[in-house]
Amino acid sequence: MLYQQVLQQIFKDIQPLLGQGKVADYIPALAKIDPSKFGMSIHTVSGEKFSIGDAKENFSIQSISKIYTLVLAMAQDNVSIWDRVGREPSGSKFNSLVQLEYESGIPRNPFINAGAHVITDIVNSSYDSPKSAILSLVHKLSQNLTINYDQQVASSEQETGNRNYAMCYFMKSFGNIKNDVYKVLDTYFHQCALAMNCIDLSKSLLFLANEGVMPSTGENIISKKNSDRLNALMLTCGMYDAVGDFAYRIGLPAKSGVGGGIVAIVPGEMSIAVWSPGLSTSGNSLLGTKALELFVNYTGKTIF
Ligand code: GLU
Repeated sequence: MLYQQVLQQIFKDIQPLLGQGKVADYIPALAKIDPSKFGMSIHTVSGEKFSIGDAKENFSIQSISKIYTLVLAMAQDNVSIWDRVGREPSGSKFNSLVQLEYESGIPRNPFINAGAHVITDIVNSSYDSPKSAILSLVHKLSQNLTINYDQQVASSEQETGNRNYAMCYFMKSFGNIKNDVYKVLDTYFHQCALAMNCIDLSKSLLFLANEGVMPSTGENIISKKNSDRLNALMLTCGMYDAVGDFAYRIGLPAKSGVGGGIVAIVPGEMSIAVWSPGLSTSGNSLLGTKALELFVNYTGKTIF
């Protein structure tokens, strides 16, 4: 299939919609991003790559980073982590505190903020330098050693992250956070502040389309079983509170972030990254979702 032509058509289709949606402004450093940006990139398991628009421009990957920390935690011990975090869609906002009270500090899934805190806590327990461990994984997967944390974004979240602090302390009161809350959230704010572009992102998550193996090097990042499980979690919990609508319209495992990025996996075939900072009310990139819907409509690439 001529994927470059498909990307060109999508780019044409979305032009009248550019700038729609609302940039995440609860993180002050993200509030100033130009909402009319749009980039998209595809990496195939067979080694092809395609991109369009602002695909080379770095943005804040935010919650997409929760995949990297989950990979590190699953590789350590994929049994005991599930005593501390669930595997169900939450049906609530990604930063909601409500369920934690009546579910005794066990977050519904690893992709809502509370669940990601628990996963990052596990990474903090497993590595002397968790921030370096995350960055090393990202460097290996993307094969781009220039990727780094955006300190300005990390500080901005640190200064305004009262809700994350509240959530993490609350879980600690149930014994579900083992490390110092400040240290866990320092790692968490940094992972969210990873600055990457669409090309890096789609390349780095291609192993999820290839049974856990990086096609370019043959390295096994996680087992096939865990790669399948991660895709299942993305399909059911990866798109905030709009995960059902996303599965209905697009039908691919995906993970989004409030920076406007979305990564979608076509199992056995490719990884797709799209970025457009304007968000829908559910917190997903409005044009990113639209672009993925157009992609599926043009190519028929869906898991259903
Ligand atoms: N760093 C953001 C927060 O903690 C992540 C939100 C997201 O991308 O879902 O609110």
